[in-house]
Amino acid sequence: MRLKSIICCLALALTLLGTSLNVRAAGKGDAPFTLVIDAGHGGKDKGCHGKKEYEKDITLDVARRFRDLVKKNCADSVNVVMTRDTDVFVPLDGRARIANDAQGDLFVSIHVNSVDYKAKNRASVHGASVYTVGLHKSAANLSVAMRENAVIELEEDFTETYQGFDPNSSESYIIFELGQNHAMAQSIEYASLAQGQLVATAGRADKGVRQAGFLVLWATRMPAVLVELDFICNPAAERFLGSAEGKQKCAQALYNAFADYRKLTAKN
Ligand SMILES: [Zn+2]
Repeated sequence: MRLKSIICCLALALTLLGTSLNVRAAGKGDAPFTLVIDAGHGGKDKGCHGKKEYEKDITLDVARRFRDLVKKNCADSVNVVMTRDTDVFVPLDGRARIANDAQGDLFVSIHVNSVDYKAKNRASVHGASVYTVGLHKSAANLSVAMRENAVIELEEDFTETYQGFDPNSSESYIIFELGQNHAMAQSIEYASLAQGQLVATAGRADKGVRQAGFLVLWATRMPAVLVELDFICNPAAERFLGSAEGKQKCAQALYNAFADYRKLTAKN
């Protein structure tokens, strides 16, 4: 590994670890719980796409439906913050900053998965996964993080902002060995509940709770997960994700998991 890339990675690790060490306690007395909902992509960053649907539109729609369910059912006890509520581009570090400034208690980033155009399983791969930040255990997990992190290349000065982090170089991902330890148990708690609900309520195939190096999760100072609802490159999954019914089921799954998470964390 090149020395320069190690130094860049460690510099970024120390900078971001400095923020991630200041994880907020789960309980804030009587203060409302702050849920940060992050609709992936937006504006010039369309995310991945199928034959007619774009990831950025699906994530925003599901995020709004999730927010509306929380507001309808927990208006008195939960404050919802959206990192975007329109079709605008928000940089990854900007998303984390919004969450940290709001002193969020849980960060849920909503995305849609895809595989390479040349992949033989492009039309057949399907299923939901919920990720927490960490070192990937498979090439497939790494490729999902690489694709989601590559949006920083749309930012001006991304080399400076992310201190030399190269989203396309596996060497850069060494920083995620350090994980997000303080919030990891709660992150996995919500990830497991959301994964279960995406199967039970939204009818998605179970591709399991996973770990990979997502910059947006790394930079948040609270329990944080990234949801990949299903694969937009699969025609049947694209139809589901493009339908109002499919989006509502996904939102309901994330809400049900949130309601269960609140019950569990309120006891601690
Ligand atoms: Zn995405």
